[in-house]
Formats: sequence, C-alpha cells, structure tokens
Amino acid sequence: MMKNGLARLFFITIIIAFSFYLSGQSSQENMKENNQPVKTEKQWKQELTDEEYRVLRQCGTEPAFTGKYYNHKEDGTYVCAACGAKLFRSDTKYESGSGWPSFYAAIDKKTIKEVEDNNFSMRRIEIKCANCDSHLGHVFPDGPKPTGLRYCVNSVSLGFSKDGGKE
Ligand code: FE
Repeated sequence: MMKNGLARLFFITIIIAFSFYLSGQSSQENMKENNQPVKTEKQWKQELTDEEYRVLRQCGTEPAFTGKYYNHKEDGTYVCAACGAKLFRSDTKYESGSGWPSFYAAIDKKTIKEVEDNNFSMRRIEIKCANCDSHLGHVFPDGPKPTGLRYCVNSVSLGFSKDGGKE
C-alpha cells in the first residue's frame, strides 16, 4: 500500500515536472519567434525602393510637404508600407501644418512601438511598426484632443486602403 502510494506520488511528480518543462519550451519558442525579424535587412533592401529603405529601415525622414499622404483626405486605413499592418484610421488624421501626415491616435497602441530617440541633440520618441520594426516617424505631446498626441509619420512609411476597397 505504502509502496503503491509512493509510486503514484513519484509518477504525479514526474508528470508535473514534464508539463512545466513543456510549457517552458513553448514559451521559449514564442520568445524566439517574437525576437526574430520579419525579414532580414538583405530582404528589405531587395524588396523596398531606395527611399523606402532609407526611411523605413534606416530611420530616415522624407522632406516636409513632399509626401503623398500629408494632404490626403480620403476615408480609409493607413497601413505599414513594409508589412501591411493596420496603423491609423483616416478619422484620426488631422492637419498639423507640419508637412507630414499627422494622426492623434493609433488604431491600437500595441501596433506601434515607441523608442527613445536622442539623435540631433533632441529628445524625441521614435515610433516603429511593432510587427516588422520599421521606422514610421515620431510621436509628440502637442496633438489635439482627445489624446493630446501627434503621431507624425512619413508618407513613405505608409500605404493606404480605401474604405470598402480591397485590402
Ligand atoms: Fe510593419
């Protein structure tokens, strides 16, 4: 009886230990997946135009008042030019006067990654696509209500899909 009980306890312990081991394994795999880039820099270089590569992958900036979307007023969804992730809705776009497309909110904060940027002796918050890590622009605390934010985005970093249009 005693022996049987011990054997059962031993067996249960093994099962519990093994399931912990398995869950650890799978979370390690998820981590690996999350840390892995969507594409290699070599692939990006092949697939993007020179200007897209400079802005999206090398944190470049298009000249103000030159991009295709700063004065764009159609209803629809703005997506990441590199991976197609949905980033901004046209109804949060507003005229900031900066010369770059400006939005006061993201569709989902989780789709935008914020990184401190201390280049050019300025303290700014860089915004990147959370899915593919491509550079989008910066976010500033001088936007309109209700968020008070200004997502200042390069047109080069965006694609656009009209409401009712094919995505
Ligand atoms: Fe992306």
